[in-house]
Amino acid sequence: MPAHDVLIIGAGLAGQRAALAAAEAGATVAIMSKVHPVRSHSNAAAGGINAALNPEDSWESHAFDTVKGSDYLGDQDAIEIMCREAPGEVLWLEHRGVTFHRNPEGKLGTRAFGGASAARTYYVADITGQALLHVLYEQLMKYYDRIDRFEEWFVTALVQDDDGQCTGAVARNIRDGSLELFGAKATIQASGGAGQCFKPTTNALICTGDGIAQSYRIGAPLMDMEMIQYHPTTLAGNGILITEGARGEGAHLYNARGERFMEKYAPNKMELASRDVVSRSEQTEINEGRGFPDGTVALDITKVPRKRTLEALREIVNIGRDFAGVDITREPIHIRPGCHYIMGGVKTDVWGATPIPGLYAAGEVACVSVHGGNRLGANSLLDTLIFGRRSGEHAAERAAGMSAPRASEAVLADERRAIAEIIGREGGGRRISEIKDELGTMMNEKCAVFRDEAGLSEAHATIRRLKEEESVAAIDDRGSVFNQDVLAAIELGYMLDCAECIVVGALERKESRGAQFRLDFPERNDDEWLKHINLSVNGADAPKISYSPVTMTQWEPQERTY
Ligand SMILES: Cc1cc2nc3c(=O)[nH]c(=O)nc-3n(C[C@H](O)[C@H](O)[C@H](O)COP(=O)(O)OP(=O)(O)OC[C@H]3O[C@@H](n4cnc5c(N)ncnc54)[C@H](O)[C@@H]3O)c2cc1C
Repeated sequence: MPAHDVLIIGAGLAGQRAALAAAEAGATVAIMSKVHPVRSHSNAAAGGINAALNPEDSWESHAFDTVKGSDYLGDQDAIEIMCREAPGEVLWLEHRGVTFHRNPEGKLGTRAFGGASAARTYYVADITGQALLHVLYEQLMKYYDRIDRFEEWFVTALVQDDDGQCTGAVARNIRDGSLELFGAKATIQASGGAGQCFKPTTNALICTGDGIAQSYRIGAPLMDMEMIQYHPTTLAGNGILITEGARGEGAHLYNARGERFMEKYAPNKMELASRDVVSRSEQTEINEGRGFPDGTVALDITKVPRKRTLEALREIVNIGRDFAGVDITREPIHIRPGCHYIMGGVKTDVWGATPIPGLYAAGEVACVSVHGGNRLGANSLLDTLIFGRRSGEHAAERAAGMSAPRASEAVLADERRAIAEIIGREGGGRRISEIKDELGTMMNEKCAVFRDEAGLSEAHATIRRLKEEESVAAIDDRGSVFNQDVLAAIELGYMLDCAECIVVGALERKESRGAQFRLDFPERNDDEWLKHINLSVNGADAPKISYSPVTMTQWEPQERTY
């Protein structure tokens, strides 16, 4: 059995940053990913990373923007930490080799992003995530003697000892189908988000909520799960993202009548209001008949000088041409709000620790909660790095003070049986892909920008039915080498758990705040709902609901206008 001080599940930005921090602190580390690390979804991040680095900016201003953006649901102690540590983290990245854009004076250049009162987004053209991920991966090589990489290994379950502490995980080697138990003194979930619960989504096929569901299944509470971000600018049909960087560079939004409609909804910030506000505005225009026949509005990037677009938004130029047949430097492109990000996840403290001893979470899988009801653009890369690092440090410290726990073989045997059962299923049921399609399409109808009780209740009933269908869905590939069918079956189970928690949280929150807009409760209600909704596993039944207070440090809730 491989045994390490710290086991990290996920090798995106959060996982790699955690691995580096743990190794620097002297721990032995295993980092595991179901795809090659640089294919992790962080690779898709385009627009940039926030930090109040300019002398005229301040971390307090960044923190207030984040609190306001979160619709006051973010925990202010965590937000303060993130914003205070942001400048140091960006400089750390720069010193490690990230080629951030520089302005004509040779200083690090910024672009404006939504909901921010200063231009504080640092970027590498529109491939920021890729630039960061590759530099971190290079850094991992320095620690070849302390960091073992398990690339194309798929974690199926977390393992606990008799005292309930997390002692590692069971993983399947995708190359040959073998299953192995990995022991660890501390385990960090860094396995990303759950965007694939929705269709379409900006998220990659691998974002199936594995770590959220695995942690939930062993009793870790999930928090703020109802808060799903719909990004204002995604392509109709396929959900591909047009980065907020486009509006940051000066692009405008128009309805089909040629009206710059954000004047009505956010007269000060216009297109750079926070994402929940812009998405709701667009959807209102579309619902009230002022959109285009394909259910979209227009993003006009021709407002940005062509030379600048070709330099700073070159991937978006390619995406417009290849996926919409539009030259964005010459004509507007049709866009609409699309599922993009989950603000909720595994509840942690500011060191990434969950209530399960030995289990940490960082990045999109986690809910610290710095994003509350609505994440500001370019705050997610920051979240992955700050809390990835902090969880790596804390996990290493925990490991240094203890002897190796006994990792029980029982879960390994259970997982062997579960996979054998999937492979041995008789045909006859629905296909995995059909169930997944129904789930995603339904979530995008009933649990999107606007929600109500009837739609959410229907969504919950559908999820319960899909769970039954999933438990007997047959697969075609019964082999052991790169069997993606088995993995898809396991992932579908994770997605259904995540979707149920999203819908149950959305039904429970009887108010409108951030990304959750309830048509039947259209106002924010601080008296009753300025609190987190926590969801815990309840056998095979719907999750158990509890609440926890929002941590306030210095910002009292105010009316939110942009
Ligand atoms: C198109 C797009 C553009 C974005 N642009 C920006 C931006 O400009 N700025 C910003 O701040 N944010 C942006 N975001 C959000 C941001 O990119 C993500 O929230 C962030 O990168 C998530 O990082 P992560 O490390 O938490 O997870 P990921 O990068 O998703 O990594 C998850 C890791 O877990 C592994 N994994 C998952 N399940 C398993 C399993 N069962 N077994 C083993 N390994 C597993 C995966 O292989 C992967 O290595 C964007 C998001 C999208 C979709």
